[in-house]
Amino acid sequence: TVVTRFAPSPTGFLHIGGGRTALFNWLYAKRHGGKMLLRIEDTDRERSTDAAITAILDGLKWLGLDWDGDVVYQFSRAARHKEVAESLLAQGRAYYCYASQQELEEMREAARREGRPLRYDGRWRDRDPSEAPEGVKPVIRLKAPTEGETIVEDEVQGRVVWQNKDLDDLVLLRSDGTPTYMLAVVVDDHDMDVTHVIRGDDHLTNAARQTQIYQALGWSVPKMAHIPLIHGPDGAKLSKRHGALGVEAYRSLGYLPTALRNYLVRLGWSHGDQEIFSTQEMIDAFDLGSIGRSPARFDFAKLENLNGHYMRQANDEDLIAAIEEILPEIGDERGIGAPLVPALREKLTAAMPGLKERAKTLVELLDSAYYLYAQRPLRLDEKAASLLSDGRSRLAGVAERLEAVSEWSAQSVEAVVREHAEAIGVKLGQVAQPLRAALTGRATSPGLFDVMAVLGKEETLLRLRDQLK
Ligand code: GLU
Repeated sequence: TVVTRFAPSPTGFLHIGGGRTALFNWLYAKRHGGKMLLRIEDTDRERSTDAAITAILDGLKWLGLDWDGDVVYQFSRAARHKEVAESLLAQGRAYYCYASQQELEEMREAARREGRPLRYDGRWRDRDPSEAPEGVKPVIRLKAPTEGETIVEDEVQGRVVWQNKDLDDLVLLRSDGTPTYMLAVVVDDHDMDVTHVIRGDDHLTNAARQTQIYQALGWSVPKMAHIPLIHGPDGAKLSKRHGALGVEAYRSLGYLPTALRNYLVRLGWSHGDQEIFSTQEMIDAFDLGSIGRSPARFDFAKLENLNGHYMRQANDEDLIAAIEEILPEIGDERGIGAPLVPALREKLTAAMPGLKERAKTLVELLDSAYYLYAQRPLRLDEKAASLLSDGRSRLAGVAERLEAVSEWSAQSVEAVVREHAEAIGVKLGQVAQPLRAALTGRATSPGLFDVMAVLGKEETLLRLRDQLK
């Protein structure tokens, strides 16, 4: 059976590239009725934080990407990593290296001078440990092949070949007994029965080095799929401005997890020209062969359009729940507390069909509902203020007409406003525009008569009179 894994280092939030890697692993496992495991690679004790672990787990949950079994914490497996390094030593596939910091620095210096990458020269490879200098704690290095090739048959990149003479004897165990990333990943993937390693192509060279470790151990190498990284719209490395944000940032920007997931699945993978996928459709269609070899470009506009689509499809209650979830982050500056007070929740529910037609994000939706939660007297934005100062005189008498409406509804108020416009001999818009400004504080809003219906007679008249004083 297929076993994939997502193996983030908890040194920062779950960023968008990590989210995509997790999604691909999840989809591949689901597609083949397998499992996706989660391994937190926390061996770097200095840089790993609990806050990052929490953010990663929350981000995955928010995206709806669940994992099988318990979370594996790599650091807790340090004794096993050490044991494997020592077994390689016992078999003569690894050796103690006593090279001092100064010697390594000299090698680095030489490499720099000759303009080539650092390559440990193997000086302890065939030396007898009895020659070991006093008081130096050795590292354990892999006795890597010096001739021939190391080959990775990658499901995305194809066949990738390294000349062994270019790969040096990598460190497996540091002098303090802790494993290197290279060793820990191999041992864990093996022990967790991982069949497919799907990750960013920044790990491609690591794949060659890890292959050498597998071979030294006589273990079979899992299938590998190295996905091109996500680039910005300009083709350069993804920057913050262009979307290199944590998954939680997308949440507070007002994106729905379903939309982000749909967006991510198409970042580097395609299925004909289909853009919209239900979860089941993604699972059914996902394959490694259709992952492109060139970097995908992040496109905020496309994400927004997808999000708009998913918002229009969502049921109103779910949208309100999604807004409520992010209110702790975005409510304050708008003067809205979480959870919503019943009166506002009711108004929001009533207005939702109109609101969700236009908005691309939950934040935009909430802003377009400003008129629902704005406190009297309304603060008008610039455009609204100028519409109102131009059109205030055309509103004289509207309040009186509205006062007389007994059955308050979008239809009845529309009839009255039309009547008024006719009576003073102007087009409907000439009354509707300043009226909208007075009632919503904005120059644009959902349909004016729907707005009035949702506000109700009393609030409508109070707001109108506030502005006509
Ligand atoms: N922990 C590594 C990272 O966050 C990934 C390791 C792997 O997938 O093999 O980049």
